[in-house]
Amino acid sequence: MTKLVPVLSAHWDEKDSFTIEAYTRNGGYKASKKALAMDPDAVIQLVKDSGLRGRGGAGFPTGMKWGFIPQGDNKDHYLVVNADESEPGTCKDTPLLLANPHVLIEGCIIASHAIRAKHAFIYIRGEVTHVVRRLNQAIEDAYKAGHLGNGIELVLHVGAGAYICGEETALLDSLEGFRGQPRLRPPFPAIAGLYARPTVVNNVESIASVPAIIENGAEWYQAMGTEKSKGTTLYSLSGHVNNPGQFEAPLGITLREILDLSGGIRNGHSLKFWTPGGSSTPLFTAEHLDVPLDYEGVSAAGSMLGTKALQIFDETTCVVRAVLRWTEFYKHESCGKCTPCREGTWWLVQILRDLENGKGTEADLAKLLDLCDNIMGRSFCALGDGATSPITSSIKYFREEYIAHLTLGACPFDPVASTLFEGASK
Ligand code: SF4
Repeated sequence: MTKLVPVLSAHWDEKDSFTIEAYTRNGGYKASKKALAMDPDAVIQLVKDSGLRGRGGAGFPTGMKWGFIPQGDNKDHYLVVNADESEPGTCKDTPLLLANPHVLIEGCIIASHAIRAKHAFIYIRGEVTHVVRRLNQAIEDAYKAGHLGNGIELVLHVGAGAYICGEETALLDSLEGFRGQPRLRPPFPAIAGLYARPTVVNNVESIASVPAIIENGAEWYQAMGTEKSKGTTLYSLSGHVNNPGQFEAPLGITLREILDLSGGIRNGHSLKFWTPGGSSTPLFTAEHLDVPLDYEGVSAAGSMLGTKALQIFDETTCVVRAVLRWTEFYKHESCGKCTPCREGTWWLVQILRDLENGKGTEADLAKLLDLCDNIMGRSFCALGDGATSPITSSIKYFREEYIAHLTLGACPFDPVASTLFEGASK
């Protein structure tokens, strides 16, 4: 059985793990010293060789992204770390930053050196004030210790809290002081990103993975994971489980293995559906328990690895209600820039609300799918596409449950209505 392998989370159980003393005691800031003595191109090559892929959802090879930055162009280059974690169910960057902020700071130093950037920014959600305080303290300590300020400056930017600012170009607009809305691409950030200068935007976990790669080498990292998905990653387990939390394992572990290692579904209940990568990834059911949780495995089974947010729902959950809640979230967070998403998510909510209350007809299901079809692939950014995933996948796997709402004229999971309906929870 694949075992949990703590690399990023190796020292999280030490009570002072977030301090510079603990980080240094555990070997921290050696990797940046080593990287700074290397040629920047050699650092990029090492990260390329490791096979590290972006942990924010898209899975783009990190070293390759760094390699896109034009060299010798006499322009300022920027590193921007996306810490705007806000996908429902996603909870990996926040605990990482609370437990070990210095690993991100060290990763920023290495990545900035590699792409020849003198300024790095961490863009974080304003709501997570406890993480902001911790990061601010860590940055201050890193400056005092001389790790920052000697050629690399690091700025923590606190956002006002909008899901769309997790989209890299909306994040850049927000960082520049504009309203956070996605930009038309091309040009891509590697050519014209922050302040129209070459910019790398990486997720927290991606950058935090770099110090261990520099320290232990590309082969060490390559030895973990699957053929095309290398290394370890943080899986966030939440919902109807006995032991929710973050579990670090090599890519390719299955949900069955994670559940076995973490205490399983809550006692006396069974798995009904789950998300492999947050609420914008198509739902899975119990038949997907053995799907390898790597980029290729999840994609081959019809979903996406996304942020590896494993939200678990047992048989007591109304799938229509769960999907409605997520859709309300996407409607609320739609930035309004494009019509399919702005108008479409509003209509999705209206129809889903009616269906959940047992109103409407079967024709509304077809209308719902038609709306999804008009949003998917026609929206300006991935938010619109993502909003349709839970709807289309839930209708694919649980169509009879939608019909049951209409047959009963109410939600079958309502305690009173449920006595009138048998079989909805199967
Ligand atoms: Fe904004 Fe939604 Fe269009 Fe993205 S898809 S640009 S979030 S309106």
